[in-house]
Amino acid sequence: MRRPFIMGNWKLNGNKDIVNKLIFNLCQKMNDITGCVVGIAPPVIYLERAREALNNSPIVLAAQNVDVHLSGAFTGDISANMLKDVGIRYVIIGHSERRVWHKETDEIIAQKFSILKKIGLIPILCIGETAKEKAEGRTKEICIRQIDAILCSQGVDAFYNTVIAYEPVWSIGTGKSEVPTQVQILHKFIRDYIMKKDKEIANQIIIQYGGSVTNENAEELFSQPDIDGVLVGGASLQAKVFLEIITIAMEKKS
Ligand code: PEP
Repeated sequence: MRRPFIMGNWKLNGNKDIVNKLIFNLCQKMNDITGCVVGIAPPVIYLERAREALNNSPIVLAAQNVDVHLSGAFTGDISANMLKDVGIRYVIIGHSERRVWHKETDEIIAQKFSILKKIGLIPILCIGETAKEKAEGRTKEICIRQIDAILCSQGVDAFYNTVIAYEPVWSIGTGKSEVPTQVQILHKFIRDYIMKKDKEIANQIIIQYGGSVTNENAEELFSQPDIDGVLVGGASLQAKVFLEIITIAMEKKS
């Protein structure tokens, strides 16, 4: 049984005051939420503050990135050990913004996946096609290439207790969400692909959708059997909207 997983990616947004207020507002309503896993990924500098503000709330914390090294002369980087040390459970890797702005390749992302598994953190592996790749009919090919970077080097067992976030690049931050029935087709395709290697792992893996998710499209998205959760960017910065998305997930998936 897969529990719906709703993760807010705050990206490069917020300050001390916003962290406190947003978390305070989320926590006010969390007692009413059951059966879902809810998480937030504030900027790394605010993770400790967020952990304190969460104060035993069931909301889990994620980081937006991790380095491939565990320690050493890597100025400016943050290791998986450090994230674990400050109470982080999940780490977003392979986000298209890091693939584009930081030139992260499938190979680097596979290394990050591997280090997270080794340290006992849960990767949220973002995959997805660009607008050009979609227009060329290459969506499935791109997703498989990004999954294979891990599958072929680490085996299917590496996907046990992990999350895949399918995020069409053209839909991130644009207000243009993929049609939910199309997302369902793609998610089923991904699950079936993993199923060919291992049925149990395919059935337990969480496959989220990300790309301009709001309280307006959440209901249709959560009506699809293979959409197990959502990775929410912009809309996660408004507590009211994020809570509405969580409530819809709870109602549609219960
Ligand atoms: C994201 O940051 O992963 C994302 C999907 O952003 P948005 O919801 O703003 O499109």
